[in-house]
Amino acid sequence: MTFSVTILGSSSALPTSTRFPSAHVLNAHERLFLIDCAEGTQMQLRRMHIKMSKINHIFISHLHGDHTLGLVGLISTLNLIGRKSDLHIYAHAELESNLNYNLKFFIEALNYKVVFHAVEPNKRQVIYDDGKITVESLPLRHRVPATGFLFKEKRGLPNIRKAMIEKYSLSLAEISAIKNGSDLADHDGKIIPNIELTYYSTEPRSYAYCSDTLYSERLVGMLKDVDLLYHEATFASEDKKLAKQTGHSTAEQAATIAKKSDAKKLIIGHFSSRYKSVEPLLNEAKLVFENTFAVEDGQVFEIPIKRKG
Ligand SMILES: [Zn+2]
Ligand SMILES: [Zn+2]
Repeated sequence: MTFSVTILGSSSALPTSTRFPSAHVLNAHERLFLIDCAEGTQMQLRRMHIKMSKINHIFISHLHGDHTLGLVGLISTLNLIGRKSDLHIYAHAELESNLNYNLKFFIEALNYKVVFHAVEPNKRQVIYDDGKITVESLPLRHRVPATGFLFKEKRGLPNIRKAMIEKYSLSLAEISAIKNGSDLADHDGKIIPNIELTYYSTEPRSYAYCSDTLYSERLVGMLKDVDLLYHEATFASEDKKLAKQTGHSTAEQAATIAKKSDAKKLIIGHFSSRYKSVEPLLNEAKLVFENTFAVEDGQVFEIPIKRKG
């Protein structure tokens, strides 16, 4: 089962000759989730051979242009290529009227439904659940209301220990009940707890997107043990003051969040165009959290299946 993130854009406010502004695509079990949709997103989807018609859910972190200005264009293109199915957009409530105005203005006849889901920026809550994947909103600290997103696989049903099936001659009905959480009463009425009968062969995987944000300790608990963390690192530590003024983080701060939350891997991006090379940012992050990567547009980060034992 695929669980991978493709970086479509990794620049902050200004695009550069090698970086588009923010957009990621998460492929979770062949469901494609677009996260932010800056200018250039469509072109990057084409370049990466990602079928834009397969995107059904778009999550917008906040209403700054470097995260949103590709949205109307993408909706228009999907219309031109014959989309009929609903497209779900998760964003702060203020976007809805603006988006509707633009869609009416620029698109003569929209042949599919854009379903808007208002996200409350200050609340951590589950905003999507399809039985296999959940998405939680994570309150961020920026100049305007901003929300991160935590994508998690849901645990499926457990396996039954083979030895237990034999030992207690379990029927199909009993197996089904145990898989769904029941304990077992044996012939003498003794209760065998569910945990002794079942096991999970894999652990659920997770990916978090945190951009744009100031350093926020509040994130630490929400990101606990995340497998892959994308945290913005707009500035180097020498520009710490500027980071604070503009509501952004330094690479060192991004790494501190990764370390404190026991993330498995950190990817940093949303780099200011003032840096000709992002190596110094990567190096300062690695001093705090070794397993850090500075993203490039077009890179794919896979989260492999986590087998237990
Ligand atoms: Zn930004
Ligand atoms: Zn911003």
